[in-house]
Amino acid sequence: IGLPEIMVGIFPGAGGTTRLVRKMGAMTASPFLLEGKLSDPKKALSAGLIDEVVPADELMAKAKDWVLSEPRIVKPWDEKGYKMPGGAPYHPAGFMTFVGASAMVHGKTKGVYPAAKALLQAVYEGALVPFDTALKVEARNFVNVLMNPSSAAMIRSLFINKEALEKGANRPDVADQTVKKVGILGAGMMGAGIAYVSANAGIEVVLIDARQDAADKGKSYSEGILDKGISRKKVTEEKKQEVLDRITATTDYAALEGCDLIVEAVFEDVGVKAGVTEKTEAVIPSDAIFATNTSTLPITELAKASKRPDRFIGIHFFSPVDKMLLVEIIKGEKTGDVAVAKALDFVRQIRKTPIVVNDARFFYANRCILPYGTEGIRMVREGVSPVLVENAAKLVGMPIGPLQLTDVTSIDLNASIARATKAAMGDAYADDDTAEVLFWLEGEGRLGRKSNAGFYAYDDKGKRLGLWDGIAAKYPEADDQPSLTEVQHRLLFAQVLEAVRALEDGVLEDIREGDVGAILGWGFAPWSGGPFSWLDILGTPYAAERCDELAKTYGDRFATPALLREMADKGQSFYGRFGEGVDSKAA
Ligand code: NAD
Repeated sequence: IGLPEIMVGIFPGAGGTTRLVRKMGAMTASPFLLEGKLSDPKKALSAGLIDEVVPADELMAKAKDWVLSEPRIVKPWDEKGYKMPGGAPYHPAGFMTFVGASAMVHGKTKGVYPAAKALLQAVYEGALVPFDTALKVEARNFVNVLMNPSSAAMIRSLFINKEALEKGANRPDVADQTVKKVGILGAGMMGAGIAYVSANAGIEVVLIDARQDAADKGKSYSEGILDKGISRKKVTEEKKQEVLDRITATTDYAALEGCDLIVEAVFEDVGVKAGVTEKTEAVIPSDAIFATNTSTLPITELAKASKRPDRFIGIHFFSPVDKMLLVEIIKGEKTGDVAVAKALDFVRQIRKTPIVVNDARFFYANRCILPYGTEGIRMVREGVSPVLVENAAKLVGMPIGPLQLTDVTSIDLNASIARATKAAMGDAYADDDTAEVLFWLEGEGRLGRKSNAGFYAYDDKGKRLGLWDGIAAKYPEADDQPSLTEVQHRLLFAQVLEAVRALEDGVLEDIREGDVGAILGWGFAPWSGGPFSWLDILGTPYAAERCDELAKTYGDRFATPALLREMADKGQSFYGRFGEGVDSKAA
């Protein structure tokens, strides 16, 4: 029971907000209204969210009795002498609630989610006036939010389309592929996480590593998560045992016999991956599906080590596996429908959201997120204040700034991606200037959060203190600083234009996946509904105009893609043109 509206960008209307606040008081109602907290019926009853809990088969009869009961039901706010629990806003206690709530909402939303602010306004102003007037205040705020394009975009991506993808909107029409036994190769950070989510979903797991102690360590990762769950009373000892019993940690490939799905998560090396592919295919049934969790290597290339490339696919998880909601499924050139269906059914079992994309450098998510970090670093190198860069990102709804993101994913990883990309692209590589910053930090031993030193300074315990002053010493801040919007547009267009190019190239087949994947995969400004929704909010003509200006000032990476230009000329929107998940090539 609860009021989850805020999660999709609106708030409880039709009197829901006004009634709940008058029933419970602003303070008690706030987790339900502001956080969309859900409770089981017993807790909802004791919190005062509902009046009575009855057996399911008596629901209608009891409800009718309740409505017809004598004396007639009078809601608390209609009682004589009613006072709002916890105090009205002009009461000292109520006043404190609102001071805190305003700060909290603004701190959490950075002002970019209209619903939370409008909700708070409806509650505050509603509490100052009689009930009927409060309903009007609520309705006006509600309509205001509803007419804001952010709300429609959030509902579309985070509710309707997310659910559609989870229910298999793009699943090929083949028989059920529910996974019974999964083999996981490599029990490192990713393999251990994948083993946990699989066993937790009731799937039998064989977790393989080159050494027994590494395999055991991978299994103990699950134990750690389950123990945490026990200490929070979310997991029982029996459940823990059940999940652990499903995981066999071993070095013996023979244990993979009978697996219907393999997920490979060994070192990011073509040779190592080819070796384990061959060893595994010698043991598993010929109709099993082999998936790789590679984050950078082309699936078509890795499939060459397989005798059954139609049964070879990419299933790309994000780290940490147990927390991240998105899984990116990548089709190689020869990947068949059964492999896609298998991957989708597996993702459904582990209760995550899938997107299905075609094979290309960095697939979809990494392709879009890498330029975000790069653009932030490029600005710092140009003399834009790192504080401005980081705050501009957060004020436009990105969960973390591009410099912090680079610290989190580690400077050396980003440096090695830069080296590999340059090697692969040759003269076409255009990021030498930002790579220089990465190589410098790497040379200084500032590898990011893991080494307690990067763009940020950290204390001994790893707590982030603030931007490292060595950055300003090396790249002094220019006297003229760009506007907030200019920095935000550079950071957003860097990502969004990659998404448009991915659609143009046919890497993305469905803009719904592009939007949902961006929000769940790397936290792209959720208020916008995703990159394509954001372009629709701007309007394609204005978006193209902005790209032209950015390209003129900062270079070709902002050049308006042909598709966007054409749509701008025709005045089309992305959802108007590709709304039903049309194949980009066909369109
Ligand atoms: P990791 O180094 O933590 O784990 C790799 C594991 O594979 C190690 O335990 C190693 O002992 C084992 N291994 C290596 N060779 C083996 C072999 N021949 N047989 C059996 N086991 C072997 O690495 P990771 O971060 O878990 O990454 C694994 C894969 O997942 C890589 O392909 C990586 O690109 C990809 N990936 C990583 C991330 C991330 O954020 N770390 C995200 C998505 C995908």
